[in-house]
Amino acid sequence: MVDVAANLRQLRDHIASIALRCGREPATIRLLAVTKTFPPEVILEAYQYGQRLFGESRVQEAEAKIPRIQRDGIEWHLIGHLQSNKVRAAARLFDSIQSLDSARLARKLSRVCGALNKTLPVLVQVNIGEEPQKHGVFPDRVFELVQEVESLPHLQLKGLMAIPPFREDPEASRPYFRRMAQLLEQLNRDRSQPLQELSLGMTHDYPVAIEEGSTLVRIGTALFGTRHP
Ligand SMILES: *Cc1c(COP(=O)(O)O)cnc(C)c1O
Repeated sequence: MVDVAANLRQLRDHIASIALRCGREPATIRLLAVTKTFPPEVILEAYQYGQRLFGESRVQEAEAKIPRIQRDGIEWHLIGHLQSNKVRAAARLFDSIQSLDSARLARKLSRVCGALNKTLPVLVQVNIGEEPQKHGVFPDRVFELVQEVESLPHLQLKGLMAIPPFREDPEASRPYFRRMAQLLEQLNRDRSQPLQELSLGMTHDYPVAIEEGSTLVRIGTALFGTRHP
């Protein structure tokens, strides 16, 4: 049996100690609990121990799950690819979309949010490893997409998200995380209101992500155990 409470406690302690070790304020790093494939009971257990930020990868799975787990103060983030035909459902279900990666998708999402009378916080997903099979906008197109997103009335851009190429060695993620932090810095150069959010780091590489400036680590396995799809 996975002890969600113990895992949460350990993760929080670890995140705080890494933050302090690299001179960051622990409160500037938030933990997103990634619940894909896990049933409502374990999600509610995490909630009971104070977890409030949750992430799902697929709209279809979220449609079946989120309505059963709406609780006070809970926040649901979409962290997987958003298909055009799921935009309406996603806009209804989620409190934030981390996987915005095209102007077309952004325009549709804003339009749908307008009809729902809501403004949705979003992150632009960057394909930082420039892997052809992966989602996300290439680094050299980020500026353009950011401008487009910020021109839309019903989206509120908070920052950037990325999943670096997978390697066993977490140190292999470091150069990608560093490039993401540099990208955000470039975007913020001429802004009065800087973008704050850098959603970086998963179970195997979150310590490195925090060292490189992550403000939001997305953790599934370390919290809920191995997934059995
Ligand atoms: C599944 C997933 C995670 C969590 O991965 P773990 O290795 O289980 O921590 C984080 N981010 C995204 C985008 C995911 O799809």
